[in-house]
Amino acid sequence: MPPTVPFVRRIDHGPHPELLEALRRELPELQVVAHADLTDEQRAATTVAIVDGPSGEQLAALPNLALVQSTWAGVEEIIPAVPDGVAIARMVDPQLAATMAEAGLAWTLFLHRDMPRYARQQQARVWKEHPPVKAAERRIGIVGLGALGRAAARTLVDQGFPVTGWSRSPKVVEGAECVHGAGGLAELLGHSDIVVNLLPRTETTDGLLDAAAFATMPTGASLINFGRGHTVDDAALFDALDSGHLDHAVLDVFDVEPLPSEHRFWSHDAVTVLPHISGPTSTDTAAVIAADNVRRFLADGELPTDALVDRARGY
Ligand code: NAP
Repeated sequence: MPPTVPFVRRIDHGPHPELLEALRRELPELQVVAHADLTDEQRAATTVAIVDGPSGEQLAALPNLALVQSTWAGVEEIIPAVPDGVAIARMVDPQLAATMAEAGLAWTLFLHRDMPRYARQQQARVWKEHPPVKAAERRIGIVGLGALGRAAARTLVDQGFPVTGWSRSPKVVEGAECVHGAGGLAELLGHSDIVVNLLPRTETTDGLLDAAAFATMPTGASLINFGRGHTVDDAALFDALDSGHLDHAVLDVFDVEPLPSEHRFWSHDAVTVLPHISGPTSTDTAAVIAADNVRRFLADGELPTDALVDRARGY
């Protein structure tokens, strides 16, 4: 019998037949089986699982697990669900990076070309021109220079924007200024007209964009949050927007999702709410990458280093 690879997805997330089919197509030599359909024998023999938002109980029912391959880039929910000693591979997909970079460009242009202001003017039937700012004069700061942040940085550099990126360790992105460490963040915030967050959620990024961070940003600057809601202190963001210090926030991610209908973000004039759509998993390409990683791990126990999650670091 070929080895079984369970496809594990929390029951309350509902089934994902397209992804399950794509994984079966990419791993014809293995038996890819939905977690709920595993026999006791298959559960006991499982060493590798592909997960798309699993529960801890589902993974605990696989006693010989050695690798969990996630279809998501963000792993803060997966780390606590995966038993100690089991390797975690996250999704690093050039198609995902391209989609996220496109979102970075789209919402940067939305702010750069003053679309929120022209939308408000239309509501009030106001015909009034505002002088455009050249791309070369609109400074973009990207916090998080991982697979997604680097792709976003390159796209914005190509579009003529001056880009600064921030990460924990030193990075090189052609055409962009790269800074790191605590001093690097203050430097980036101090000279960015638009800050794009692409950090993972970890203990050190929770609440990182707080009142002090917003105060460091120039008056009239804007925020785009594609990373995780928890990185932004919501109360501090409201204060910065209400006082007029910050101009606008484009928010794709929130502490609680879906964003509760009574939340003030929905109706705030200076906030654009998006339903976590900037970088969805691409089913077909994610299936190819998950299949390659699983095949490689089963053959020689190796994984691409950029996919391997460091539990202590939290991403
Ligand atoms: P990644 O490759 O792991 O990159 C993370 C980046 O953040 C790295 O540059 C890392 O620095 C930096 N970083 C982490 N902690 C830091 C800290 N304390 N101080 C400074 N820099 C820090 O992750 P990715 O694939 O680019 O994805 C980033 C995040 O995007 C995901 O974790 C997820 O939360 C979010 N996401 C959102 C969507 C959406 O639809 N909205 C879709 C996919 C992903 P080093 O390079 O030095 O390690």
